[in-house]
Amino acid sequence: GTMPIATVNPATGATLETFEAYGGEEVERRIAAAAAAFDHHRTTTFAERAALLHRAADLLDADRQEIARTMTTEMGKPVAAARAEAAKCARTMRWYADRAAGLLADEHPAGSDVADSGAVRAVVRYRPLGVVLAVMPWNFPLWQVVRFAAPALMAGNTGLLKHASNVPRTALYLEDLFRRAGYPEGCFQTLLIGSAAVEGVLRDPRVAAATLTGSEGAGRAVASVAGDEIKKTVLELGGSDPYLVMPSADLDAAVATAVPARVQNNGQSCIAAKRFIVHSEVHDAFRDRFTAAMAALAVGDPMDEAVDVGPLATEQGRADLEELVDDALAQGAAATCGGRRPPGLAAGWYYEPTVLTGIAEGMRVHREEVFGPVAALYRAGDLDEAIALANGTSFGLGSNAWTRDPAEVERLSRDLQAGGVFFNGMTVSHPALPFGGVKRSGYGRELSGHGIREFCNITTLWHG
Ligand code: NDP
Repeated sequence: GTMPIATVNPATGATLETFEAYGGEEVERRIAAAAAAFDHHRTTTFAERAALLHRAADLLDADRQEIARTMTTEMGKPVAAARAEAAKCARTMRWYADRAAGLLADEHPAGSDVADSGAVRAVVRYRPLGVVLAVMPWNFPLWQVVRFAAPALMAGNTGLLKHASNVPRTALYLEDLFRRAGYPEGCFQTLLIGSAAVEGVLRDPRVAAATLTGSEGAGRAVASVAGDEIKKTVLELGGSDPYLVMPSADLDAAVATAVPARVQNNGQSCIAAKRFIVHSEVHDAFRDRFTAAMAALAVGDPMDEAVDVGPLATEQGRADLEELVDDALAQGAAATCGGRRPPGLAAGWYYEPTVLTGIAEGMRVHREEVFGPVAALYRAGDLDEAIALANGTSFGLGSNAWTRDPAEVERLSRDLQAGGVFFNGMTVSHPALPFGGVKRSGYGRELSGHGIREFCNITTLWHG
């Protein structure tokens, strides 16, 4: 809604820089530039686009230290994780630069089918769609944008980025990165605008489609406008991923992975494991070891290389998290660790890694996305109960299951309602693997061949 566009350091609460939102004329100039750039960019070859994206990847690698510090300053992730994010973005740029031509190669339906359609020859060609508006969140401020931009630019589209209001420096860095890489003006631009200005951009006839990563509310708002305008959207919304642990699991590994699966990015990841559903045979052992490991995490200044968990990205984010935990505690849940702000850190929006047990249906943590380092632990009597708990949510993004029983693997592969099931490991995104959800987690896919085809005009070329 009304967030000012500003860099506010979550480790201190200090406002470092405030930005004026672009006015109507500036937005108009940029939409016109995006449309003009598309007219040229769509005619370039894959080799030309790949050379540009490789150049961007090389520049990003060279900038890694500096952009990592910018991200940490704007949203508080541990600086080592920020460097890793930048490196992953460069790898993903190269992945698409090297593979787009193959992923979008012309398809030739079988000769007999073509003849049946009355054609001498038929070709399916992946042509770009046009200007794509990307509405992106602050939690992975480089990655969320690059996983859209790399395939979109390789497909021949141009991009307009409306980034979250609390990461303006990262947003401006991205525009500058693509400009320095040699992309013609207008191929990739940042719009410094508030969320209220998104509708006008999306309704502009020169904007063809939109992709949004963020909350359910933001997704609903953007998809409603896009629906009204009959424009394609891809939505990657929240998640409340289950993390199932069955008796056949390697319990040490399940505990060791549960910790980063929950607290990665200070607990603010759509694909973080949020609900730990553990078979009663191993529940108590898991609870005790998981609690000990969560309590042992180093919470503090995210610029400190030794810190595991930094502050929440926004003051509102911590307030929301505290409300969820307090609601659960008031209704009878117990915290085996955490459940409060760290006493030693007065400034900044810190919260202690927390494990909640005794979760009941009426609690908000049971239904809502918990965006912070707070785990909800459940006990399940058998696999059926575990699956019912896992699916008993409005979300369906990722999921995790720890088991060495092939029959259970097969059941879970069939029955878990999610865009991904990760066995004996934590959910990760990788350019080669499709990424996205079902139910209220959204629709469409990012990454892989599926992702790059989302913003294509799949064109039939029929020759009589
Ligand atoms: P939002 O979903 O509000 O923000 C994501 C992006 O959407 C931002 O660019 C935001 O702009 C924009 N936006 C928000 N509302 C609208 C709207 N009505 N129309 C157009 N654009 C809009 O996330 P918050 O930062 O407010 O976080 C709230 C909660 O959302 C979190 O606690 C978490 O549960 C969930 N979330 C999930 C993410 C995920 O990866 N799954 C990522 C981020 C949040 P602006 O910043 O200007 O408001």
